[in-house]
Amino acid sequence: MAVSIIEALEIIGAQISALSCEIIPIEESLGRVIAADQRASFDLPRFDNSAMDGYGVMCCDHGKSIPGNKQIFAGDQDQYTLSQGEAIRIMTGAPIPDGCEAIVPIEEVTIGDDSVLLPANIRLGAHIRRAGEDIKTGERYIKKGERVTAYTIAMLASQGMTHIPVIRKVKVAVFGTGDELRAHHEKILPHQLYNSNTPMFAARAKELGCQASAIAGSADTIEALKSSIQDALYADLVITSGGVSVGDKDFTLEAFEQLGMKRLFSGVNIKPGKPTTVGKIGDTVIVNLPGNPLAAMINFEMFVKIIILKLSGNTHCYHGTIKTKMGQTYKLKSGKYTVILGNYDGSGFMPLSKQSPGMVSPLAKADGMIIVSPELSMLEDGGDVSMIPIRWSMHSSQKKDIFTK
Ligand code: AMP
Ligand code: MG
Repeated sequence: MAVSIIEALEIIGAQISALSCEIIPIEESLGRVIAADQRASFDLPRFDNSAMDGYGVMCCDHGKSIPGNKQIFAGDQDQYTLSQGEAIRIMTGAPIPDGCEAIVPIEEVTIGDDSVLLPANIRLGAHIRRAGEDIKTGERYIKKGERVTAYTIAMLASQGMTHIPVIRKVKVAVFGTGDELRAHHEKILPHQLYNSNTPMFAARAKELGCQASAIAGSADTIEALKSSIQDALYADLVITSGGVSVGDKDFTLEAFEQLGMKRLFSGVNIKPGKPTTVGKIGDTVIVNLPGNPLAAMINFEMFVKIIILKLSGNTHCYHGTIKTKMGQTYKLKSGKYTVILGNYDGSGFMPLSKQSPGMVSPLAKADGMIIVSPELSMLEDGGDVSMIPIRWSMHSSQKKDIFTK
């Protein structure tokens, strides 16, 4: 029996867990998911240091003209001591001398021949970066389940980490099913069709951090299907499309079941994409998507993306939504949870004018999708919608005003 979208996502959440981990150099960890909390082994900054090029002083010397002959540079090993009535010239990043209560920036002093005139007011602690104010020894600075970005790598490097445990890459095998299909690099006859789903899924899985391979597609026979499935079972996740509906040559599920697939769910109350099925053979997760490209893509974004996030140990594994407004009125057939693809320009959601389950051309145009509840037959211009992003670029094709005023 078909499950709801929410039930399907809950089953995925409950039944699919992170793969094992491996230890890799931090330079190679971009996009990977951290497998264990990282705690700081020392303070950052490591010692109190100057945030400005200036003079280290005591606050009681404010307004005075005092000698300032010594200099401390970033990287200096010696620890200086400052006395009352003395200023020490200090550069950004240099260690704060003992007794120093504030740094006065160079721009705020008047430099004389043998002395510096300090400003009338000096705030205790001004322009001193304290040890540990950024990251404290023992503090968890990266959580297990976070995806590594360039900025995570900055934190790891600042802690002198050379290697890091990450969840191993999800191995994905993809194949298409259908007598009519040919690979895009083959010769095609008028009654045949290029397989666009397989390269699409493989590419999207790679975008999501997987190691994905397309394997040879299958004809619509149980034997051919079983042979493709056997070739795919090395993977952590097998994604197929086609042959899951009620057609006379729709043998995909039967073939998978003959090879031991246990269904987690089969059929979802979603339009398009009702036949979507998720199961397991041993530890390998199996996803059978409908053959229609747009239906397959929507169900990939809705379910397969979450499966990949779960397998890769990412704790951010729920759909996030952008609350926005409809950019136009849109009519649809009520009665089903219907997914609509559209464009998002930062201020509104514009449904794609052309979108039906068998199409390929809308896929590359969509920035996001909305799931419309069954009771609705119209979405009003300006009405609230929750959009699940598909691709996300905060850059614009037009020059924008970038300031907050
Ligand atoms: P099916 O789910 O097998 O009934 O296929 C539904 C529709 O999707 C049919 O028109 C198929 O020709 C088409 N189709 C199936 N698989 C693919 C694929 N891999 N790439 C492009 N179209 C496909
Ligand atoms: Mg078919």
